[in-house]
Amino acid sequence: MTIDILMPYPMLPIVQEQLDAKYTVHRLYQADDPDKMLTEVGDRIRGVAVAFGPVDANMLGHLPNAEIVSSFGVGYDHINTDDCLAAKVMVTHTPDVLTEEVADTALGLMLMTVREFGQAEQWLRQGNWQAKGPYSLTQATLQGRKLGIFGLGRIGKAIAKRAEAFGMDIHYHGRSQQADVAYPYHASLAELAAACDTLMVVAPGGAATHHAVNAEVLKALGPEGIVINVGRGTVIDEAALIAALENGTIYGAGLDVFENEPKVPEKLLALPRVTVLPHVGSASQATRNAMGQLVVDNIVSWFETGKPVTPVPEMG
Ligand code: NDP
Repeated sequence: MTIDILMPYPMLPIVQEQLDAKYTVHRLYQADDPDKMLTEVGDRIRGVAVAFGPVDANMLGHLPNAEIVSSFGVGYDHINTDDCLAAKVMVTHTPDVLTEEVADTALGLMLMTVREFGQAEQWLRQGNWQAKGPYSLTQATLQGRKLGIFGLGRIGKAIAKRAEAFGMDIHYHGRSQQADVAYPYHASLAELAAACDTLMVVAPGGAATHHAVNAEVLKALGPEGIVINVGRGTVIDEAALIAALENGTIYGAGLDVFENEPKVPEKLLALPRVTVLPHVGSASQATRNAMGQLVVDNIVSWFETGKPVTPVPEMG
């Protein structure tokens, strides 16, 4: 008997080809009338492969026989796990396979921001080096900086390892102190910010972290302060960040993620000491393929053994 899989949005070829080979895949994004397709095939769907949301009670209401939602990416704030638990739907994600890639991105973004490498490159490309002379000396340096990591999990630890090699002092904040971690722990984000001058945000999105980096935290970080965000855009109050950058409350920011992607506020782009990337943390072909493979492996394992490979923690 064939197993029906729903694919709301396009996914990588590595995912599409393998799912097509084993299952009947219904591509919502190709339907002339997606609602009609859901009505027609919703009852038959047993698995869902997603990269975006929302996945919630409303969506699951159309899929009464869904057993698993296999999500592409380690962050799953687009999935309402309470709704999935209530509907007895397993949720999986793709941890570990992207950890080192995202940590590399974080270090690159931090260096670009502190030393203004993006702006310096533009200076050269626009002919200013020849016409006007060298790019201005950067007023910030990585040397002597203290790095506060908000979210010392898999990626946070991989960032810490790299930052140690750059000679940085590491501090961290999370919901609790980690017994096997020697870096100083701070019980609140404002305390972490006060103890550091560089704040690395790599905590997950969702209600619990929404706007955790607010005006108070930015003030505590201080005028030399630089914020790097490779976690989720919603973790930072973007309006407060823009205000803090405009009035010199902090020095600069490097952002891979934004509150309303792919929209990035013009005010942010107009600021001189801001480096922006279009959410490319894990975006190499090799790493994205590894993530895609895990999306497939979770579905295959579920239907062959009844167990997923990498369930989200809420699934117990
Ligand atoms: P982990 O679950 O391993 O780490 C998350 C860390 O955040 C944990 O140390 C946890 O510590 C902390 N944390 C979680 N919730 C809270 C909270 N409410 N308040 C304070 N701290 C919290 O995840 P990963 O390291 O694998 O990934 C982290 C995040 O990075 C993802 O959720 C995703 O949003 C983002 N990401 C971004 C990418 C990009 O392209 N820019 C790519 C991949 C991931 P504790 O339990 O002690 O609170």
